[in-house]
Amino acid sequence: MQHSNEVIIVGAGIGGLTLALTLHKAGIACRIFEAAPEIKPLGVGINLLPHATSVLAELGLIDALAAVAVTTQESAFFNRHGQLIYREPAGRFAGYEQPQFSIHRGDLQTVLLNAVLERLGADRVLTDRRCLGATANGQGVSAEFADRTGVSYRVDGAALVACDGVHSVIRKQFYPDEGAPRYSGVNMWRGTIKAPPFLTGASMVRAGWLTHGKMVIYPIRNNVDDAGNQLVNWVAEIEAPQPAKRDWNGAGRLADFFPAFADWHFDWLDVAAMIESSEAIYEYPMVDQDPLPRWTFGRITLLGDAAHPMVPRGSNGAGQAILDAQYLAQRCAELGVSEAALMAYDHARVKATGDVVLMNRKAPPDRILQVIYERTQGERFERIEDVASAAELSEIANQYKRVAGFHLDDLKNRGTAESGAAV
Ligand SMILES: Cc1cc2nc3c(=O)[nH]c(=O)nc-3n(C[C@H](O)[C@H](O)[C@H](O)COP(=O)(O)OP(=O)(O)OC[C@H]3O[C@@H](n4cnc5c(N)ncnc54)[C@H](O)[C@@H]3O)c2cc1C
Repeated sequence: MQHSNEVIIVGAGIGGLTLALTLHKAGIACRIFEAAPEIKPLGVGINLLPHATSVLAELGLIDALAAVAVTTQESAFFNRHGQLIYREPAGRFAGYEQPQFSIHRGDLQTVLLNAVLERLGADRVLTDRRCLGATANGQGVSAEFADRTGVSYRVDGAALVACDGVHSVIRKQFYPDEGAPRYSGVNMWRGTIKAPPFLTGASMVRAGWLTHGKMVIYPIRNNVDDAGNQLVNWVAEIEAPQPAKRDWNGAGRLADFFPAFADWHFDWLDVAAMIESSEAIYEYPMVDQDPLPRWTFGRITLLGDAAHPMVPRGSNGAGQAILDAQYLAQRCAELGVSEAALMAYDHARVKATGDVVLMNRKAPPDRILQVIYERTQGERFERIEDVASAAELSEIANQYKRVAGFHLDDLKNRGTAESGAAV
């Protein structure tokens, strides 16, 4: 099997599918090789912030996404007693040109996959092709794949982009001594439930703090039944010893985390009842990796979680993969599919995303919760103004937006990749 002019994309996740669309738009041939025998809509909730949705808007996908997602209205922070700490509008409600979406990962992947199948053709996505490794030579790349039965395939291409996620085999090939993803000290349990709308009906809520338990809660599908219920996504996060499992689909046990939230009965949402009534619970450790010095080796490069896995505390994992895809396709359009294009991508995006990885560790938006927790020792407050001013809390949120490239002013000016922004 030989496709020597094509870009080989390894992995049909959010990054790989977006890259196929941005390359196709730039007139560059590509083909995706996915390890899974079938692309199933796995995962739970993801938030897409305006820097990512502006890329998806340029790909003409906003209507398709709006039809399946919740258009987020606000981001709101509460303590473990359900008292409001801080809230700010989101997406178009905050003046951005493009919306913020809260969406099921499977719905996002399906919208991207359908667009790839329609625009590029069904023969551009090969499933049951697990990449085993790749080598670059002066003119292109050669990659090895295997299917479930063990049959192996060699594929030649003009370049290879590894979009194979947090356990990337290509990353391991270039960094064999790096070790497993680094545990942050926080374990996560995730689930979904059909429930009536709460707050604005499109609020992204963060509550509590990691020491005693933090929750992230937001709706990801509207009108899932005749009663007007939504599909609500929740994530419980607690500082805990490192768990043995590291599988996005690994099952979690209620007893391991529920006690931390058993008394969370807010007047605007009964969190404890919501958790208890959820059917499936998934457990996944919060992991990332130290930023790498480079991703590009000849005509092979990394993208998305393969390049910059980050702890999910700033809604930027999928978003930065989408920005990578846009930036890489633009460099290939300008410079041809070449080592120079891949190096230009490397120079800009390694630094931009490395800053986001470190910011997610140090000062993501939920630092707002930490500040209040530390000042109140987790107790109720009389007036939030006596604990912290809105200006102080807003500055924490704004600092993160600047580093991650979605501050309103930066997006209006459409800055450079060095600031993490889409270009
Ligand atoms: C099953 C699954 C569920 C997830 N659920 C959530 C969630 O609920 N919330 C959240 O915030 N994030 C979730 N994520 C992670 C999230 O999708 C990523 O953090 C982000 O979107 C960046 O996307 P990515 O394309 O870089 O990686 P991913 O979306 O992880 O995609 C990587 C793709 O590469 C494929 N792959 C892996 N190894 C190989 C190989 N050797 N050869 C070929 N293909 C390979 C994988 O099957 C997958 O399709 C999930 C990821 C997966 C794979």
